[in-house]
Amino acid sequence: MKTMYTDTHTHLFLKNFADDVPAVIKRAEEQQIELMIIPAIDMASCEEVMKLCRDYTGVYGAVGVHPHDCKDFSGKDLQQLAELAQSPKIVAIGEIGLDYFYDFTPKNKQIESFREQLDLALKLDLPVIIHNRDSDDDMMEIMRSYAGSGLRAQFHCFGGSSALLEELVAMHHYISFTGNITFRKLDSIRELSLSVPLSQLLLETDSPFMTPVPHRGKRNEPAYIPLIAETHAQLRGLTKEEIGQVTTFNAFKFFGIQKTAGLTYTYKLGHALYINVSNRCNADCIFCARKENPVLHGYNLGMAKSEEPDATVYINEIKDPRQYSEIVFCGYGEPTIRWETIREVAVWVKANGGNTRINTNGHGNIINKRNIAPEMDGIIDSISISLNSHDKSQYAKLMRLPESYYDEMLDFAQKCKPYVKDVVLSVVDYPEVDITASKAVADSIGVHFRVRGYF
Ligand code: SF4
Ligand SMILES: [Zn+2]
Ligand SMILES: [Zn+2]
Repeated sequence: MKTMYTDTHTHLFLKNFADDVPAVIKRAEEQQIELMIIPAIDMASCEEVMKLCRDYTGVYGAVGVHPHDCKDFSGKDLQQLAELAQSPKIVAIGEIGLDYFYDFTPKNKQIESFREQLDLALKLDLPVIIHNRDSDDDMMEIMRSYAGSGLRAQFHCFGGSSALLEELVAMHHYISFTGNITFRKLDSIRELSLSVPLSQLLLETDSPFMTPVPHRGKRNEPAYIPLIAETHAQLRGLTKEEIGQVTTFNAFKFFGIQKTAGLTYTYKLGHALYINVSNRCNADCIFCARKENPVLHGYNLGMAKSEEPDATVYINEIKDPRQYSEIVFCGYGEPTIRWETIREVAVWVKANGGNTRINTNGHGNIINKRNIAPEMDGIIDSISISLNSHDKSQYAKLMRLPESYYDEMLDFAQKCKPYVKDVVLSVVDYPEVDITASKAVADSIGVHFRVRGYF
């Protein structure tokens, strides 16, 4: 998998970059920063953003007026923003917002211009890039008033309270931190960042400002994004490449850029390598976003049947299975639909010293019309079966399948026991799930039990 990073916030039009934009962009590209988004701050910079977008393929822009500069914001400006936003390279309205730290524009005027630009974004179906400084209360009141409107926002250079963060995350907005996340004294920001689900995290430099360690005191630039990714990675027990890949995918999705991070056949999470086996499934769980939004941990796992690769493609990407704690067959679908392919890969993984696991809904025997458990002997080390519920009728309702599938799933778990070392029934820690009763089900058939975290 190719590493890719995104800088969702760089002001390359500012005079700090007047002499060397081409060199700055070249250095960014050398660091695999494939996408840069330049938010304007006033009407004059909107024009400069347009020019940079025309000059560089990987550069996209946002048009809008910053709270510092909205003293004279008028209906004519709004009209002009609407016209500029027609360009396919303008992917957001921004940066807009509130800033009560500096008193450059009266509060009332800030709020008025902010709301007008939010309405414009909704009308144009564009996301917004929000700047918020020392204005949490008014910001929250405004965001609440837009709840359910379809507004999609990125809160850039986040420095607000944890209460604000929690509410924004619940509203499905996106959050980014700048070099501030690397500052030695800002443990609170690092801690705060962990409340952002990986699927709502974006990377940004806010260059030329907010330069990350070890370049503090110098001009910031997009090429420093991997330093910010590295801090996120350490906090989350991932690699900076993984952070780069996931946040880039998030950026493509959030800004609606018609370029995808490509089909994901395998992806690393923690120390394990996950195999995207299939996006197909025999079930139709009511909570499953497999069809509309097959994104898991920020990876796009959408894959048509015709795109499903054969075993050699997976084997080529695994290379040496010993470098991973385990090779996990899953995908956003039911992997045993492609049991033959799994078997081929698993045989190779075991022959090359690796460990294997399948994450399944436990319907493998129905799907394959035979008992596949004995075929797992010696090639599958662990199998994790979704129990979903301790209650048969709730299970059937959740998965939109006949109740008999519940017994089939438990029967499958038992049939696996002689052949697979570690058989696990797992549930997700949704509030609706009765953990004690679910564990009792696992105990009753003598298999392990695990509660999986939910992002
Ligand atoms: S079993 Fe898994 S993949 Fe299939 S519909 Fe349910 S949640 Fe989605
Ligand atoms: Zn800002
Ligand atoms: Zn900015």
